[in-house]
Amino acid sequence: MTPKPTCHPDRRHYAKGMCISCYKKLRYDSDPAYREREKARIREAAKAWAKKKRMEDPAWNAARQREFRKKHPEKFNFMMAKFYWKKLSLEDRKKLIEEAEK
Ligand SMILES: [Zn+2]
Repeated sequence: MTPKPTCHPDRRHYAKGMCISCYKKLRYDSDPAYREREKARIREAAKAWAKKKRMEDPAWNAARQREFRKKHPEKFNFMMAKFYWKKLSLEDRKKLIEEAEK
């Protein structure tokens, strides 16, 4: 006979008298190492999901990019600038920096 969680008696007991969501929340709030691990795990899972979705549905990705561009125009510009910067040769970069410093 497993004990009943005190937080939600109708749910299954997970640990320390709590159900799984309350226990995880407590741990998330009180254990910084666990919190970082969880954040990283969730980020990775979201990335993997988006990657899969991108392959399956290019239109979804295009719409998502448009949405991002609308919401964060400065971030989008920065990303584009970075993207083109990487494509430039060292010479061109030097020239651009000199231009900017004039
Ligand atoms: Zn609970």
